Amino acid sequence: MRVRGRKVEEDNLEARGFSLYLHVPFCISKCLYCDFYSVPLASLPEPDKAIESYPKLLIKEFSKLQKSYDLEPYGEIKSIFFGGGTPTLLSPDGIEHILKELKTMVGVKDDIEVTIEANPDTVSEDKLKGFIEAGVNRLSMGVQSLNEESLKTLGRCHTKERAVAAFHEARAAGFTNISIDLIYGTPGESIEEFRETLEKAAKLKAEHLSLYALTLEEGTLLKKKVELNEVTMPPEEDDLEKLRVASTLLPKSDLTRYEISNFSTPCHQCIHNLNYWGRGSYIGLGPSSHSFLSKVGSWGRRWWNKKDLAEYTKAIENIEENNLQIEGFEDITKESAALERLMLGLRLTEGISIAGFKKEFDVEPSTVLSNFSKLMELGYLEVSGDTLRLTRGGMEFHDEVF
Ligand code: SF4
Repeated sequence: MRVRGRKVEEDNLEARGFSLYLHVPFCISKCLYCDFYSVPLASLPEPDKAIESYPKLLIKEFSKLQKSYDLEPYGEIKSIFFGGGTPTLLSPDGIEHILKELKTMVGVKDDIEVTIEANPDTVSEDKLKGFIEAGVNRLSMGVQSLNEESLKTLGRCHTKERAVAAFHEARAAGFTNISIDLIYGTPGESIEEFRETLEKAAKLKAEHLSLYALTLEEGTLLKKKVELNEVTMPPEEDDLEKLRVASTLLPKSDLTRYEISNFSTPCHQCIHNLNYWGRGSYIGLGPSSHSFLSKVGSWGRRWWNKKDLAEYTKAIENIEENNLQIEGFEDITKESAALERLMLGLRLTEGISIAGFKKEFDVEPSTVLSNFSKLMELGYLEVSGDTLRLTRGGMEFHDEVF
């Protein structure tokens, strides 16, 4: 695996520490396709107070976690990611408070990747400068589309002009590492319209671009609209064609694909997500967040928090008397750890080291995947020297392959 241009051995991942994800569950309004846990501000009795007090809750939760799990074996924090929800609804002071407290509690190096997700409607050049001064050095902007109709269909609260303006504000504020999120497959979106979005996005010269196929999630308003025939999803072949357009067009703008849905300029891969795909340890704070510590039990433990801000707030305010707000947990077996390593590692264009896999799990990758020979026959998987990876076709049909 290559991180910022360096070759990093799979089994050295643990030595590089753990990641921290902080979920900020506030949004201006709910986008029609979204099933991430977040609450629209208007639904809160005192939204300003909720936003102001939230950073302290996250720190209290982390402090309790430190008492519940021995984090010593995991080393230092290697990346911090403020996700949501809309973390840019927090103030720069709130973000600064969190980062300062974390420094005191575990020691956070100044040069680690610190990302904040941004909704274009919640930022200004001044606010973005404030985030940089607070210690944030990477911005992940939820643009989703640069086509006005698609933005409306998705229920985004910003226009395409606002998204482009927010990008320029981020540059003017001093961000030198910006990622753009785009969605393809929105009802009504033609291949040509998606190509235009891509071309406009490429012109912005972001360091990183994430590209997600729209999926209709249970319980979302968009799913309901599709079921009621108010809008129609584009044919599946269009999705494939759009992905092909992206994988041809983006490299021309220096954005190379390094993961199924992610493209970056050299040295700007997302360290935080590389940790997930490398099956590294991470801690999630805030309602609905997920955590994974690889050294609990034999093969690691995963747990996830309840999706309830009110319950979370009440419990964390009195955390001394309460347990963490866990909804569930899973102790990982060797079999599922091996399968995870393959499924996550194969998302990367670099694939996985067969020798590294054998060293870790004492078995060949081919014995873990029941359909290994079939995938090889179909040309979706390839072995080259010590590397096992998805082919271009395998990347295109990754859902079917997985
Ligand atoms: S801004 Fe993001 S988290 Fe909030 S509703 Fe929209 S997609 Fe979901």
